[in-house]
Amino acid sequence: MKIRNVLVLPVLLFILTGVSCGNSKNKDDRTADVDKEVIKAPEFDADSAYCYVQAQADFGPRVPNTQAHRECGEYLARQLERFGAKVYNQYADLTAYDGTILKSRNIVGAYKPESKKRVLLCAHWDSRPYADNDPDPKNHHTPILGVNDGASGVGVLLEIARQLQKEAPALGIDIVFFDSEDYGLPEFYEGGYKQDTWCLGSQYWARTPHVPNYNARYGILLDMVGGRDATFYYEGYSARTARSEMKKIWKKAHELGYGRYFVKEDGGETVDDHLYVNKLARIPCVDIINYDAHNPRSSFGSFWHTVDDTIEHIDRNTLKAVGQTVMEVIYNEK
Ligand SMILES: [Zn+2]
Repeated sequence: MKIRNVLVLPVLLFILTGVSCGNSKNKDDRTADVDKEVIKAPEFDADSAYCYVQAQADFGPRVPNTQAHRECGEYLARQLERFGAKVYNQYADLTAYDGTILKSRNIVGAYKPESKKRVLLCAHWDSRPYADNDPDPKNHHTPILGVNDGASGVGVLLEIARQLQKEAPALGIDIVFFDSEDYGLPEFYEGGYKQDTWCLGSQYWARTPHVPNYNARYGILLDMVGGRDATFYYEGYSARTARSEMKKIWKKAHELGYGRYFVKEDGGETVDDHLYVNKLARIPCVDIINYDAHNPRSSFGSFWHTVDDTIEHIDRNTLKAVGQTVMEVIYNEK
């Protein structure tokens, strides 16, 4: 059995601040601080996460109704089983904006499924059927590899699953891979605007969770979390509906030295799976998503929804910053 490495940083802080005359905290506050021990999470292995990203990319574009999609779904469920999770497969026929029936599969890996105290970690595993933001219009109908947009979040979560098996945090964790996130209305679509065409898998799950009356304290969604020099700003919807959880994550990232990735400033608001987890399942959910404020092509980065969303852009340092931060947060939940 491994002994968890417990750091009692606040005690040191108490000693330091205790000698300062300007300290305005009363005695009760100090006692509460001392009780807050900081638990060190296991080491997130970025090489391992990178391999899980690569493995998904090797299937090719994971567009629903394709062989690559079916095979990758099998791979993901098998990995979660290997890492000791109780696996639920949710198969559903979901209707895309153009009437196509998408043979979809949400995949859930539950740790400590009996526990009432839970945190939800999620990412989408499908990739977009169209490179409709590609600079070359000839590519607009080409499926994308979705290495950052899809595979990066899943890769980070697979590595977290591997760690959860080795050393469990105090509460139950659910890892959910949502399907059919990225089949939304394309840029070239000439029909009228349609609502809710994105995030079909999470909409389905939020209405019909894998277990009845499912609840979690909060959720964390990872999307585009592997790009070199990625920056994660406060996403607008998260800031309004899961503010304290969001602040907790960014604070932890800064404590760990990942402040250059986790920028404490407002970014854009995004339609992503967290929106439906929040609205339909009523679970506050934070989106950690790349935001590139100064990019003229897209605030999600220049290769977003292009044929260039490939493994070359993935940086282990970014995977590490996100993976370690998420782990430090969940291992410190009581
Ligand atoms: Zn996308």
